Amino acid sequence: MLIDTYGRVATDLRVSLTDRCNLRCTYCMPEEGLQWLAKPDLLTDDEIVRLIGIAVASLGIEEVRFTGGEPLLRPGLVGIVERVTALEPRPVTSLTTNGIGLKRTAAALKEAGLDRVNVSLDTLRPDVFKTLTRRDRHGDVLDGLRAAQDAGLTPVKVNTVLMPGLNADEAPDLLAWSMEHGYELRFIEQMPLDAQHGWKREGMVTAGDILTALRTRFDLTPEGAEERGSAPAERWLVNGGPYRVGVIASVTRPFCAACDRTRLTADGQVRTCLFATEETDLRGALRSGAPDEEIARLWRQAMWGKKAGAGLDDPSFVQPDRPMSAIGG
Ligand code: SAM
Ligand code: SF4
Repeated sequence: MLIDTYGRVATDLRVSLTDRCNLRCTYCMPEEGLQWLAKPDLLTDDEIVRLIGIAVASLGIEEVRFTGGEPLLRPGLVGIVERVTALEPRPVTSLTTNGIGLKRTAAALKEAGLDRVNVSLDTLRPDVFKTLTRRDRHGDVLDGLRAAQDAGLTPVKVNTVLMPGLNADEAPDLLAWSMEHGYELRFIEQMPLDAQHGWKREGMVTAGDILTALRTRFDLTPEGAEERGSAPAERWLVNGGPYRVGVIASVTRPFCAACDRTRLTADGQVRTCLFATEETDLRGALRSGAPDEEIARLWRQAMWGKKAGAGLDDPSFVQPDRPMSAIGG
């Protein structure tokens, strides 16, 4: 098992497949992009599958989510999914993507065994999309969502970050639209993980703001705590259910005490938290010929050092060097 000194057990592994991206969301990356990881530093497909195999067979990992950067940019994605879903015990697999290119690959991903997708979509307005992501690809994301639904990568979830003055007024419209299309909508509070270090608490849309806006048009009833489990999203039944809307309030209502995650970056570093300032190098161990037991030991040791919380409210909080896109969101 992956257990920490606070008794939390990690069963959910987030794997970043690349730090590159074809969008430039303002809350994530600067317009010019970033200094991408060098190819030799990236884990190969075989190395990724081996590490996930160790996590599943020896460390109790039950769920694997592929992310990035933009994971659809990883050429070997379908093959990786195929090999991971053939592992014993078979983990539940999902993908977090901006949806560009999903139209082309959704069926192949389903065929390879992928269970679900989360598609990030912040706005229903193509012009706002262009301002927010600095790319004119709104239609591609909508096509990707539809393809995921048609391929059976369900429930299709939509992740939305609201930004003041840009899309903050769209919360009720996004909910009505998601209900109509059968997508599960989850709002995510903007976190201090942008590469530009421009995040300001005063400049973010809070869970409270989002719920107030939604209640102008919908009746929301909170879901019970037992139904939430270790899920980061708090959920509300909309108009009596069965549809539920989620809010991930990482900043204003952190859920660190119930965290069940461990993370692997595209260059083979284990991180115990998005906000961790330390990493454990598994790539070096892999490439120096360490056996599976040694890799598992290093991973357990990393988990043992997991901090109690992200510490966003702590005056000593320091934003991690790696931005979200290089950690894997
Ligand atoms: N490129 C893929 C995508 O956008 O879905 C996967 C990686 S992206 C880093 C994963 C999720 O993190 C997206 O839903 C995105 O909106 C979210 N995200 C990125 N930067 C964020 C930030 N500063 N605060 C909160 N969420 C953020
Ligand atoms: Fe790319 Fe996702 Fe970051 Fe947007 S949030 S720039 S799609 S990695």
